[in-house]
Amino acid sequence: MTKTSYEELVNIYEEISVTSAKLEKRDIVAKFLKKISENDPDSIYDITLLLQGKIFPPWSDKKMGVSTNIIIEALSKILGESPKDIKRKLATVGDMGEITEELIKNNKQVTFFKVPLTVKKVITNLRNTVDFSGHNSQSKKINMILELYTSASPLEAKYITRTITEQLRIGVGEGILVDAISKAYNIDKEIIDRAYMLSNDLGEVASRTLESVESVKSLSITPGKPIKPMLAQLSPGIKESIEEMGEVLCETKYDGIRVQIHHYDSNTKIFTRRLENVTEALPEIVEYIESALPDVDFIVEGEVIATQDNKPISFQYILQRVKRKYDIDKMRDEIPLKVFLFDVLYYDNKTIAEEPLISRRELLEKIVTTSDNVELSTKKIVTPDNVQDAIDLFNWSVESAHEGIMFKAINSPYSPGKRGKNMLKYKPIRETLDCVITGGSYGKGRRAKFYGSYLLSILDDETGEYKTLVHAATGLDDELLESLTKRMKKLVIKEEDGSLLFKPEVILEVAFSEIVESNEYETGYSLRFPAIIKVRDDIGLDQVDTVSKLKQILELQNVNNIE
Ligand code: AMP
Repeated sequence: MTKTSYEELVNIYEEISVTSAKLEKRDIVAKFLKKISENDPDSIYDITLLLQGKIFPPWSDKKMGVSTNIIIEALSKILGESPKDIKRKLATVGDMGEITEELIKNNKQVTFFKVPLTVKKVITNLRNTVDFSGHNSQSKKINMILELYTSASPLEAKYITRTITEQLRIGVGEGILVDAISKAYNIDKEIIDRAYMLSNDLGEVASRTLESVESVKSLSITPGKPIKPMLAQLSPGIKESIEEMGEVLCETKYDGIRVQIHHYDSNTKIFTRRLENVTEALPEIVEYIESALPDVDFIVEGEVIATQDNKPISFQYILQRVKRKYDIDKMRDEIPLKVFLFDVLYYDNKTIAEEPLISRRELLEKIVTTSDNVELSTKKIVTPDNVQDAIDLFNWSVESAHEGIMFKAINSPYSPGKRGKNMLKYKPIRETLDCVITGGSYGKGRRAKFYGSYLLSILDDETGEYKTLVHAATGLDDELLESLTKRMKKLVIKEEDGSLLFKPEVILEVAFSEIVESNEYETGYSLRFPAIIKVRDDIGLDQVDTVSKLKQILELQNVNNIE
């Protein structure tokens, strides 16, 4: 058995990158994998990762520890080029890999001490950089990659850089790799695909193929290793979707972040849809989950939303919570969270993901003790005979400030990473109108010193006057709230009992779900769920939307109405 040289892998990278045909790429990879499994089976795991340009599997929360700046520093150290010059080159060429290759090729002064690099050496050094932290970590990282660059040929150096920058650019996606593994070992593609979906680790799949088909088939979900979430397609309409799908589990669509919660060995970890570990940022979700479910190993999925007085608030707030690294306890009080669970993928040593949705849901209902903080998604089972139930759920969901509804095929398994017809999402149609601010009032609570709500008007094209249409308060982030208030202060015409009239000057684009009749506003109409999108400084007052445009949208709305 020989250790595979890095040069051999690099030659394969080059060969793949010059062919554009997918089948040819697949064949090159398949042949290479076959060879590795005969000559150097211990490297099959690492090589499968490196073929995807990765040093860790996708389920791992370890990230590449080296930035482009560190590469530049390392290169400037060995080659004597100034970091500034290298950065200038990067700005024109764009590919740090190519620059590395050029620099090493053109360097005449330094003779490198050439120790042939093995695949194992490259991946080990790159992995080591991840664990350095704190004092001196930068220079330790530089040393790790210097060791590689000083032994590398120009071409090898190019791919070391591209692996570090996570831009391999050889045009091999996971689809080609799945096909190549299937071809190399003559195992059905479906078997490889399933093993990959559930393990989220192609290296592991390739290693198992060396053992037996049975070993590949036995690969499954493991608590602690997040899998890619199943994705939703857009629904064309409530009625159409239910007629196409037959029996459907309709659920409220929540506007927060999707979480995959793994509990194993009495520990809980929370992953986002991009499989980032956000456990530390959301300590109360760990507590809520641990008191809502028994202490067995499980994986459940749901949506975490931010609340105020137990009502959902804008998506922005949950983002603030997830990104937060410090003062988490303070944030916990400021932005309370709750979680709506909607799926279970693993429970008490059993993979549940492959069971029909309806059984998974039944299990979820059995194992979760709900509370104010942990609820199950609101659901209704709907068939083409009772579409109205879905419409009711949709209206209720939107009125409760949720985002819309989901349609899920009742008998479908959980398909990790797939965007198929088994899960659809339906949100209110968001039309927009450009309105001018003609009035407003101060905000409440934290927003008391700003104008928190604006009275918006559109142009009556018959009379040429502005007519009021709606009050809008949502959609303003803190920055916009402050800058808009400053601007509007100069335009006040009248202030009475906290109610203001403004000179029409500032135009806002506002999105809404529906136009409804209303006696409250001069147009005779109003907008449901208005949300401010942005200030339209790019258009003039003569381009504010008109009452006739409003009526046009209303007509379309009536035609499209599902009833
Ligand atoms: P989108 O983010 O628009 O692609 O819509 C799909 C997303 O809806 C999922 O990734 C979840 O974050 C979110 N979601 C909210 N409520 C549910 C639910 N009841 N079932 C599934 N996904 C949901």
